[in-house]
Amino acid sequence: MIKSKQLRKPQLVLVVDDQEINRDVLGMILEDDYDIIYAENGREALEKIDQYKDKLSIVLLDLMMPEMDGFEVLSRVRADEYLKRIPMIVLTADRSAELRALQMGAADFITKPFDMHEVILARVSRIIELSEGRQLISAAEHDALSGLYSKNFFFEYANRIHQFHPELKMDAIAMDIEQFHSINALNGREFGDRVLRRLGDAIRDFLGGSPGIASRIEADRFDIFCKHQDDCQALLDRLQDQVNTISRNAVIRLRMGVMPWREGVEPVLLFDRAHTACNMARGDYKTHLVVYDEEMRTRETLNQRLLNDLRRAVEERELMVFYQPKYNIQYDPPKLSSAEALIRWKHPELGMVSPGSFIPLFENNGQISVVDNYVWDEAARQIAAWRDKYGVTLPVSVNVSRVDVFDPTLEDKLRALVDRNGLDRGALKLEVTESAYTENAGQMISLIERLRGMGFEIEMDDFGSGYSSLNMLSSMPIDVLKMDMAFVRNIEHSEKDFRLVELVLDIAGYLKVPVVAEGVETERQYQMLRDAGCELVQGYYFSRPLPPEEFEALIIREIETERKHDA
Ligand code: C2E
Ligand code: MG
Ligand code: MG
Repeated sequence: MIKSKQLRKPQLVLVVDDQEINRDVLGMILEDDYDIIYAENGREALEKIDQYKDKLSIVLLDLMMPEMDGFEVLSRVRADEYLKRIPMIVLTADRSAELRALQMGAADFITKPFDMHEVILARVSRIIELSEGRQLISAAEHDALSGLYSKNFFFEYANRIHQFHPELKMDAIAMDIEQFHSINALNGREFGDRVLRRLGDAIRDFLGGSPGIASRIEADRFDIFCKHQDDCQALLDRLQDQVNTISRNAVIRLRMGVMPWREGVEPVLLFDRAHTACNMARGDYKTHLVVYDEEMRTRETLNQRLLNDLRRAVEERELMVFYQPKYNIQYDPPKLSSAEALIRWKHPELGMVSPGSFIPLFENNGQISVVDNYVWDEAARQIAAWRDKYGVTLPVSVNVSRVDVFDPTLEDKLRALVDRNGLDRGALKLEVTESAYTENAGQMISLIERLRGMGFEIEMDDFGSGYSSLNMLSSMPIDVLKMDMAFVRNIEHSEKDFRLVELVLDIAGYLKVPVVAEGVETERQYQMLRDAGCELVQGYYFSRPLPPEEFEALIIREIETERKHDA
């Protein structure tokens, strides 16, 4: 039988080393499988490379040589459009030189004293194989926009550093830009591209000559694999400063997640955690740097647990809906006007889990609609039950998650829900968080318009925590503004904060929609809001979210007040 290898013309290898013994050893290792030519120094190597440029499959290149060293050969070959397709493996005893050579474009390295023969043979044949698809690889090497490595190449490279340079202690850093969608939407794509380019430049600038690499993984996500940083905040500030130079008007906030080096942990896993850390900075407007730590590992385990337990929670009715009243404070005494349905999870082992710790989790993983549908069903049923019991319809608003927008059956679902319970559309109000508007502006606006057309009322939740501009607002279809809690928190002690509240009330006046102030906790806050003309409030001062049985007391009190008033 003829081996397939023998059918092919042997591939040509150039071995470059100033030491005869090294040339002999490599020659012996390779001679059964390859044709071999030799050079004794850099100058001779370049001549041979040029002479055999159409036939050479690979060059094995010593780095330390008299006359012209291997780095020089490497950089000249890599600078030549035609020659650079020829892969080069460097031969060296000096580990730091290896990395420099890799950065200069060497395909791989072989350490001296020489590795085991099989290892060398395997590397040579693998690199030749890879280089046969070389054109493909090099086109895909860089991201055209940022100039950083492409994702695949980046990870391939990171793995190599990890494998061959455990002494380097590399950190994994994941970065992205807060609300990048909105930046694009507000300033145009071209501006968005400029931001990405500037960040790419800033990262490259930071890496400088140090052993580190970076990639734009996708859209506005950047990964950096660099030597351990003691002060990541300083790095973030530095990159942020450079990005800030783009525009004085646009708010561009970088976010950073760091997974510090840990012995033996592979890059893919390091970056997984860096991304987790980066995502933790999401939605938190003060923390822009998160370093992965034990607490987050615990958090991840908890997340996994919650994701696994959701199904059971629905089936076993561990999920419960609480109701928090909204009062109209332009009446005296304030008048119960509606309620917000808020999910609670009574976990058999973990106790009460707050929505803050599972809503974002389910939003990211796509299961949020399970929760939301459950709450909507419960709320609609509850409105009908109270109506039947007390003869009044108390409207309840439910939260609509940013992900629900993509549910094509959303309108049918809501329509069926109110019909089934014999409710007016106006009885079930929908709260949509402000950031959901800016993230998918077009899609969101048309959905909201259709829902309003059907008779549903829309409240913009968390208003002021995101990035809507006044001119976006005026084109957004909404019925109520829910002012974010942060506005109210300090009005008693800060003149400036109170001015901001007045400003929001003015904006709402201009849009001709009422305002709900959230998070009203003290009598003074209530009075100040009332005097400023705010119509509706929600907060602990009036009531915490209550289970339905307890909420009924508020309905009864309201009915009695009205009866007294009428009498
Ligand atoms: P949100 O929609 O802005 O709801 C208001 C939150 O403020 C509630 O937190 C409520 O308990 C809290 N709150 C009310 N008054 C006060 C006050 O005076 N002081 C303070 N410090 N807090 C007050 P909760 O119930 O923990 O919910 C947090 C968030 O989770 C909600 O913010 C909402 O975004 C989300 N959420 C809750 N239920 C659901 C749901 O069924 N579906 C979806 N998608 N999200 C939900
Ligand atoms: Mg809400
Ligand atoms: Mg809110």
